[in-house]
Amino acid sequence: MKPSISSLIEKLTKTHSLSEDEYSTLLDEYTPEIAEELAAQAVDVRRRIYGNEVYLRGLIEISNICRNDCLYCGIRRSNMNCARYRLSSEEILACVEAGYPLGFRTFVLQGGEDSYYTDDLLAALIAEIKSAHPDCAVTLSLGERGSESFRRLHDAGADRYLLRHETADEAHYRMLHPSSMSFRHRMDCLRSLREIGYQVGCGFMVGSPHQSNVTLAKDLKFIEQFKPDMCGIGPFIPHHDTPFRDDPAGSVSLTCYLLTIIRLIQPNVLLPATTALGTLHPEGRELGILAGANVVMPNLSPADVRKKYELYDNKLSTGAESAQQVDELRQRIKAIGYTVVSCRGDVRRNADAS
Ligand code: SAM
Repeated sequence: MKPSISSLIEKLTKTHSLSEDEYSTLLDEYTPEIAEELAAQAVDVRRRIYGNEVYLRGLIEISNICRNDCLYCGIRRSNMNCARYRLSSEEILACVEAGYPLGFRTFVLQGGEDSYYTDDLLAALIAEIKSAHPDCAVTLSLGERGSESFRRLHDAGADRYLLRHETADEAHYRMLHPSSMSFRHRMDCLRSLREIGYQVGCGFMVGSPHQSNVTLAKDLKFIEQFKPDMCGIGPFIPHHDTPFRDDPAGSVSLTCYLLTIIRLIQPNVLLPATTALGTLHPEGRELGILAGANVVMPNLSPADVRKKYELYDNKLSTGAESAQQVDELRQRIKAIGYTVVSCRGDVRRNADAS
């Protein structure tokens, strides 16, 4: 017999753990009323750890050149219609200098897997950012690299690394990626980043092709066991130049429900309300925060390259999504009862919200 939904909710909120079957049932039984009830608990748990603070990150999209060919991604190698660019170290430093007076104290360097960014180049760049702004954190999101490379960049001062696991189901992983990419290697990278001492982020797209509540339950179990410091989830949105061009976008309400469940699994996790959520819904960021998210990542890339980092169709990069309009974002977040703060915004460890 299936456990009742209320007993699952009680178990999740008390123990922060369910079996894969139970996570799957929680997803199968989704209703707006259950989502609302759980979100209220997630918001309460987050308030006890982070108060009403929302952390800010400046996202610098350093390159859309990528050696990988992920089937869902608009900057995949085989997309010949993608106008490629890469930023020099000087251009990246200029983005940091533009972001600092706007209140940014974490800079996220994200890009395709572009071999131009050698360990030497990145180590020098990271050291320069940290020496100019010792009060700032540097987050990298540059895909899979060797463990020696991860170590070198950590030694140079990088604090955090975001590497979405994409899916915790190996067969599903193979449906989203070419055979040259390996599920095991991605998971090994996450473990190596953790061992080296980074604050580590994993994550996945909601509604990616071939995803099911069974694969999502595996994602939730993986998150429960891996205990990431950060977790990036956002809806899948098709890109017209990829094999998944005709697949439907993920759902905003399911994304919010998953944000809530992840907050309840790991109360102190840093959870962004992502650009993809803001792209699918005009108030996507606010909905994400009201579901349990506590991080926003406006775009600090130079204006002339923003359109070129097109992971999916119609990706937002203007308005409250633009770092230059961070005051608009502050107002919008304030209007729902939260405060965007200017600090590094590290994960709070040993925080007990149970
Ligand atoms: N290359 C790095 C990596 O692999 O982690 C970072 C850049 S990659 C483009 C960042 C994330 O974008 C991926 O982890 C993926 O989840 C997300 N993404 C790519 N295509 C997307 C799409 N069509 N819809 C939503 N998110 C997408």
